[in-house]
Amino acid sequence: MAGTDYLATLNLEQRRAVEHGITRSGVNIAGPLLVIAGAGSGKTNTLAHRVAHFIVNGADPARILLLTFSRRAAAEMERRAHAIIVAAVGPANGHSPLLWSGTFHAVGARLLRLYAASIGLDPSFTIHDREDSADLLNLVRHDLGFSEKAKRFPLKATCLAIYSRAVNAAETLDTVLHRQFPWCAEWEGELRLLFDAYVEAKQRQHVLDYDDLLLYWGELMQVTDLAQEVRSLFDHVLVDEYQDTNALQAAILLGLKPDGAGLTVVGDDAQAIYGFRAATVRNILDFPGQFSPPAHLVTLEQNYRSTQPILAASNAIIGLARERFTKDLRSTRASGEKPALISVQDETGQVGCVVATILENREAGKTLKDQAVLFRTSHHSAMLEIELARRNIPFVKFGGLKFIEAAHVKDLVSILRWAENPQDRVTGFRVIQLLEGIGPSTAGKVLDRMEGRAPVDALAAFRPPAKAAEQWRDLVDLMQHLYAGSSAWPAELDKVREWYGPHLERRYPDAAVRVGDIEQLQRIAAGYASRAKFLTDLTLDPPSATSDEAGAPLRDEDYLILSTIHSAKGQEWKSVFVLNVVDGCIPSDLGTGCSDDIEEERRLLYVAMTRAKDQLNLMVPHRFYTHQQAKKGDKHLYAARTRFIPSTVLGHFEQRIWPEVARFAQTRPQAPGPSVDLGARMRGMWRRTGN
Ligand code: ATP
Ligand code: MG
Repeated sequence: MAGTDYLATLNLEQRRAVEHGITRSGVNIAGPLLVIAGAGSGKTNTLAHRVAHFIVNGADPARILLLTFSRRAAAEMERRAHAIIVAAVGPANGHSPLLWSGTFHAVGARLLRLYAASIGLDPSFTIHDREDSADLLNLVRHDLGFSEKAKRFPLKATCLAIYSRAVNAAETLDTVLHRQFPWCAEWEGELRLLFDAYVEAKQRQHVLDYDDLLLYWGELMQVTDLAQEVRSLFDHVLVDEYQDTNALQAAILLGLKPDGAGLTVVGDDAQAIYGFRAATVRNILDFPGQFSPPAHLVTLEQNYRSTQPILAASNAIIGLARERFTKDLRSTRASGEKPALISVQDETGQVGCVVATILENREAGKTLKDQAVLFRTSHHSAMLEIELARRNIPFVKFGGLKFIEAAHVKDLVSILRWAENPQDRVTGFRVIQLLEGIGPSTAGKVLDRMEGRAPVDALAAFRPPAKAAEQWRDLVDLMQHLYAGSSAWPAELDKVREWYGPHLERRYPDAAVRVGDIEQLQRIAAGYASRAKFLTDLTLDPPSATSDEAGAPLRDEDYLILSTIHSAKGQEWKSVFVLNVVDGCIPSDLGTGCSDDIEEERRLLYVAMTRAKDQLNLMVPHRFYTHQQAKKGDKHLYAARTRFIPSTVLGHFEQRIWPEVARFAQTRPQAPGPSVDLGARMRGMWRRTGN
């Protein structure tokens, strides 16, 4: 066994978790392990050390499966593990990288391609993002005649939400309808037909949606021989942020490790924030009891991230939760300011205060990267983004509009996807309609004629409207080129760009700006070995929109982080600002349905607050502007401080009013009656003679 100096920084409990199942004679496949602990207690750090410790002690990195919440988190964990290994054995004995790390969805996609031939899937299946899935559901809904029902049938997004809930929560349609969508319950029969036809359409077109990546993986684990084969790929399976997994993911893990041997999961029930996507905190709570003997349990009690006052305020807020299992944490960092609860008049004041404080912090030596602004919903940062751009302060936004969701990027990606899978109707539908003078009905006809025929032959034989004839020929040439694989990847992207250029210019008045995104796409593409790999990654874990960045900062440049709270999971910054800590935003209007939803919003505030190391500013605008109800027009709402900070916990905060002048005006002690009546003097001014 190598020296263990590299574990010296860990506390006793962390070390127990890291060493669980590793003996002096090397790595044993130990029984199941659960690390459950509050925010900033070093769960992710412990997991990284455990991976490193496995490898240092001879485990094969290729046989370790590491499941994280995002690709970014996986990359960060690999970086941490690598640094620990280098510290332990020196750079010369570098190890091979982890081959299997990423999100459940990405790993699922990879396994399904690997086993496609054995489970009746086309290995070149393409993956639909949520928008594509909703579009396909809509086509099917239309084909079944449901869109013409006298009484309004649920919209495509609602249908997808119902479908997705049933799949991810592993619940029957009946249960989902009655618990989550009671107003749609009358459509149960039609929805069943719709989903049945949707599944058939996906299979016919060789497409999988996000949920299928888990569903098929889950089903694969039910087939004895294949499950055995997949199981034999991995000695160790480790999962971070386990509190945000759903029933299907838990079933997959159990399929991979039926007796729990070799399985490690870590999480915090107080940070469960994905219930709205069918994640269930029961997964983590019920984990130990699934196995016999039960999983080994490690709890961590030290928080290494936040100062004591920040932690005390966060503990106080989560302490009001209806139920919670993890304990309050102690901080190792006793001193520090109380978190600030800053009242501002409106959003303009909020933006002014945030930008001024960020710049003050920068003057005082904090970089922009040390600071983050968090918000409940992506559009809450709109005004801030405009101000940052105006002041030339670079920023990167996470969790907002994704790069791939921008229409022009999606156009271009659709062409590649269609080349990859000509059966994919939603994609073909989009591509064909890029041409001038071709609408949905013509596009539908083209796709009908392509069914069961060689795609290029069908395209070439089609007679488009006269106006589109030339553009049609160009499209056929392009698709011929792509289907034939005439140029290698990523060179074929040049060909696609050349074709798309005139369409981009014609379709978008700001084409010049959008070209930047296309160039960015090409740079990203250059990092992938094949078109299929590129498309899979781009769909599963798309980069943030470049248009969200002011001046597209370079990797090593300093920039501020803007993020939704959901996307800030697991991360930390020296200074954290949380926007709109008011009722209606946190909890959001959407989330105020039932008490479970409210509890999830409370945990969301806890997640936001526990991202801060040294400084935490919660912003409370007293008026904010909403444009959610577009039809009724924009309006101002008067907002109250979030219900999650009742007066009983106010003592944990320093209350401030911004700008400071306002505080002076409000806090000046009142003298007993005016000493001088300026008003009377003014009134008298014009009554005096001589004026
Ligand atoms: P979250 O619940 O937010 O995901 P976490 O429990 O995963 O948090 P980490 O991100 O692993 O916590 O750790 C929080 C911070 O504490 C990091 O900066 C990490 O480097 C530091 N840390 C963790 N363990 C120790 C330790 N034993 N000694 C010093 N610092 C530590
Ligand atoms: Mg973590």
